[in-house]
Amino acid sequence: MDSQLPPLVPGTLYLVATPIGNLEDITLRALRTLRECDVVAAEDTRRTGQLLKYFGISRPILSCYRFNEARRSEELLERLGRGEKIALVTDAGSPGISDPGERVVRAARRAGRRVECVPGPCALVAALTASGLPATEFHFIGFLPVKSGQRRRLLESLLPVAGTLVFYESPWRIEKLLGELAELLPDSTVVLARELTKKFEEILRGTPAELLARAQQRPLKGEMVVLVSRAATSRGPAEETEIDGVEAVNPNLAVGSH
Ligand code: SAM
Repeated sequence: MDSQLPPLVPGTLYLVATPIGNLEDITLRALRTLRECDVVAAEDTRRTGQLLKYFGISRPILSCYRFNEARRSEELLERLGRGEKIALVTDAGSPGISDPGERVVRAARRAGRRVECVPGPCALVAALTASGLPATEFHFIGFLPVKSGQRRRLLESLLPVAGTLVFYESPWRIEKLLGELAELLPDSTVVLARELTKKFEEILRGTPAELLARAQQRPLKGEMVVLVSRAATSRGPAEETEIDGVEAVNPNLAVGSH
């Protein structure tokens, strides 16, 4: 089959989405791109090394993370200029969404290099589609600033915005976010999508205060997406859904876990 597909194009930066937990979620095209590229640029070389090893792929890996992405972008541009085929992967999900992929893509586009997307898993899309909240209009905020004043100002600026709000949040700050939402949007419906596609996948729904009480009772761990809706159709009796997760092929290799 593979031999009938067109080969990778020299001088192209391929944005390869990788699983957010369940290794079975990798696409056939992602595997072929990783197998056929000249080099893999990765946010975490150890983690990507594990992923490649799991799929029996052996390619050189270059590190490209938040603190070296400016310098590394230059090197990647030079390599693309020499006709290399580069696969860019981040720790999990779609490169370019709240991770170092964005800057590299911008640099490549500015330099007139070819950029191709190899789409696949994305935590934002997985959470939004499973949430049951309105998805016709949604606003992706990503990670909020860490500093309280900046967070507050950003959250306040979102009050008039219609549609479902989608945040990425760390387990260390989840109670803080739920507290802020309880103050600013007490009547909203919040869905907290945790450890998606992993063994302990869980989707919780409630008002900000209900979920805060829940988090204070039993700390919420792992990776999570927080979705907030003010639409009347989202409301209803406080409801909580726990979903049995689909077990990862090998939970130790779950690339979405920290
Ligand atoms: N580019 C990736 C994407 O869009 O899929 C996201 C990268 S960002 C650095 C990582 C954040 O994505 C986590 O802090 C969490 O908010 C979210 N995330 C990643 N994997 C997840 C999972 N399995 N379940 C829930 N949220 C996840």
